[in-house]
Amino acid sequence: MADRMGGTMASEAKNGRAILALDQGTTSARAIVFAADGAVLALAQREIGLTFPQAGWVEQDPLEIWTAQRATAAEALQDSGVAIADVAAIGITNQRETTIVWDRATSLPIAPAIVWQDRRTAERCEELRRAGHEALVRRKTGLVLDPYFSATKIRWLLDAVPGARERAARGELAFGTVDSWLAWQLSGGRLHITDATNASRTLLYDLRAGDWDDELLALFDVPRALLPAVCDTCGVVGQTDAAVFGAPLPLAAMVGDQQAALFGQACTARGMTKVTYGTGCFLLLNTGEEPVESQSGLLSTVALQRGGRRTYALEGSVFIGGAAIQWLRDGLGIIAEARDSAALAARVPASDGVYFVPALAGLGAPYWEPRARGAILGLTRGTTAAHIARATLEGIAFQVADLLGAVAGDAGVTPADVRADGGASHNDLLLQFQADVLGVPVTRAAQTESTALGAALLAGLAVGLWKDERQTADLWRAERTFAPDPVADREALLAGWRAAVACVRDLAGRTEPPAARRRAGEQGR
Ligand code: ADP
Repeated sequence: MADRMGGTMASEAKNGRAILALDQGTTSARAIVFAADGAVLALAQREIGLTFPQAGWVEQDPLEIWTAQRATAAEALQDSGVAIADVAAIGITNQRETTIVWDRATSLPIAPAIVWQDRRTAERCEELRRAGHEALVRRKTGLVLDPYFSATKIRWLLDAVPGARERAARGELAFGTVDSWLAWQLSGGRLHITDATNASRTLLYDLRAGDWDDELLALFDVPRALLPAVCDTCGVVGQTDAAVFGAPLPLAAMVGDQQAALFGQACTARGMTKVTYGTGCFLLLNTGEEPVESQSGLLSTVALQRGGRRTYALEGSVFIGGAAIQWLRDGLGIIAEARDSAALAARVPASDGVYFVPALAGLGAPYWEPRARGAILGLTRGTTAAHIARATLEGIAFQVADLLGAVAGDAGVTPADVRADGGASHNDLLLQFQADVLGVPVTRAAQTESTALGAALLAGLAVGLWKDERQTADLWRAERTFAPDPVADREALLAGWRAAVACVRDLAGRTEPPAARRRAGEQGR
């Protein structure tokens, strides 16, 4: 396992020091034990179920999250052969925004977790937007008024669960994102905390002040008594309960998954950028000590807080990244496995004027057209599955190029290169094309588990396993750099893409708005 992860099996917890990273993702809990040289000593993983009780609703069982996370931690520790006394610290990284409310006395959730993907509060967000609150929210939080973030989910829970609002006001309940929930459970209910990166995804946190904001709390109708204390991303915040691992361990880092990946990719200086190619694609550009207000509808977020000092990032995401490859597999059936996309695409030297705009779940940044649908354009009788596979990989890269253009414009910096990770970053053709359309080199990290690595590095930094950020950055290794092809006609490629996106947007503009469709549906019933 360690070899595949870019580490070496020969590595040991040098000087008896290792870090346990808990990586709580949307579909799985993972635990990885890292040695002081950054090598992976052991990894354990368990799937976590998602339920979809109604259209647009996505829920998880908070107890399943905790149980799975705890089990993977025990398994990874056991497999690593590292004694508990040799674990220097624990770092947590997590799916962000997912909302849990629990009873402080029993540590039991009052309802299922509302997962970040859940859209049930879309109407509430729309109401707030119509009432003119968007500008305030953007300015203070760096986010947009969207059901994605925690605030409207918290209010929904308080309204839906009988007695919850009264109990919250009396201080009997606690809210937390998944980092908070795990810290609570790990500490046996002694720690009710969240770190600044996670707090900055709630819509309740003032980015510049670095704390919960009364005006936002009032706007979203969330009582302060419910909220965790905001702590450093990197810093010892407490100890785990001895009962959990047999001995107390310092909890030394908590960090949202994308910010963890940014740190794991050693993007610690202003302008440095990483892209994670997973189901969706997430681009984060480090903007240094000042948050940047985006002019393109992108998000401004905390990258890291250490010793009370924050650095910030601009974040852009596309909903459909690797998911487009899944669609080739499951929807079209032209590949058996995601990785076959590379061989199929390589059968043709170019996509030959075929463009795939993978707007399978609407168009996100920088277009923001939720009605958009995907399209494959430029077909001829000579078009084959290979052209479509190639156009799909190119479509992923074009979307990322749009994000980078927007982010770089907002921040006023052009990154010298881009660091890639995530499942689809294993695709050479994708990364080569990415470099060609960006006109900057794209480097795949040796350790593509940059999320867990980031949490481990932050935890190790907090307990002095590594001296400073230069030392943690030194552990980062490039696996391969894709230099832009000097003969690639970047402008021509981008012009074709933009024309294809224009078609998709035009078509979306001609379709009935969702509200009208819904009303029509209701009349029909
Ligand atoms: P997540 O963390 O979002 O679940 P991963 O980082 O595990 O995602 O990446 C999985 C995604 O990457 C899937 O959508 C899959 O289709 C895609 N993928 C995996 N391997 C390849 C590959 N070799 N080429 C293209 N896409 C790939």
